[in-house]
Amino acid sequence: MGTYAVTGSRSGMGGEAASKLRAAGHTVIGVDLADAEVEADLSTPSGRRTAADRVLDAAGGRLDGAVLAAGLGPLRGRERQIAQVNYLGVVELLRAWRPALAGGAKVVVISSNSTTTTPLVPRRAVRALLGDDPGQAVRSVRLFGPAAPSMIYAASKLAVSHWVRRTAVRREWAGAGIRLNALAPGAILTPLLERQLADPSQARAVKAFPVPAGGFGDPSQLADWVVFMLSDAADFLVGSVVFVDGGSDAHFRSDAWPRPVPLRGLPQYLRLFARR
Ligand code: NAD
Repeated sequence: MGTYAVTGSRSGMGGEAASKLRAAGHTVIGVDLADAEVEADLSTPSGRRTAADRVLDAAGGRLDGAVLAAGLGPLRGRERQIAQVNYLGVVELLRAWRPALAGGAKVVVISSNSTTTTPLVPRRAVRALLGDDPGQAVRSVRLFGPAAPSMIYAASKLAVSHWVRRTAVRREWAGAGIRLNALAPGAILTPLLERQLADPSQARAVKAFPVPAGGFGDPSQLADWVVFMLSDAADFLVGSVVFVDGGSDAHFRSDAWPRPVPLRGLPQYLRLFARR
């Protein structure tokens, strides 16, 4: 049986994943604002430091995996916290936990299908986050006015997905036997979505959004995907962003992916080969 860190363990998909891991006999060190083994606010640098350190203490310096599910939805006036929790609340923790991740360890980061279904997300915001500058990211979305929360939300999930893909293939991760992947859910009926549905203007947009399968996803089913991506079945899964979204991404972008390496990507491709 293994030891897993789960952020956002109090509610929604993180809560369901933590319950399933515990039911399977694993030890779970939950991280959340309250009602968790480690209570910490991931929207602040000191909260992230506390979470990173206290999980390592509780795990005795060895983790078999982690689930990074803590996150905020596109809430008005919370742009800075969204950037901090959804991006830095993942990457700062994983940087700190990497030395404790055992060979064979698996990590699942919860991204979102907002990465590919939100139009006009400013690249500058994504670049700022990848440079660990949430303040600049928030400034980059201000001009979107009432759409700023959706923009920073999508930017945070794009940045974290790009970070997962860049990091997963590195020698210190894939080469050390650690598997890092992301799960990109669509609209899943959790307290996060319920808050959006309670706001009439957001509810209209959520309900009008095309979902070929219809309805909303079930958090328990998404947690089954998380558990699967932590299992031996994922030994060969590296840097994947797995969409479980009822078909919205395929609806908007059926031909956008898979795509061969474009000409402008060739130098990076050749460098990658040279490094092996
Ligand atoms: P949720 O609100 O049920 O759970 C999120 C958890 O994160 C909560 O327990 C909350 O307390 C915790 N959290 C929030 N801010 C925190 C902070 N500052 N410090 C520590 N913990 C904090 O939501 P959920 O839908 O289960 O979301 C899980 C993840 O899935 C999030 O990253 C979210 O962005 C993502 N997601 C959700 C949906 C959806 O439709 N529900 C869709 C795509 C992606």
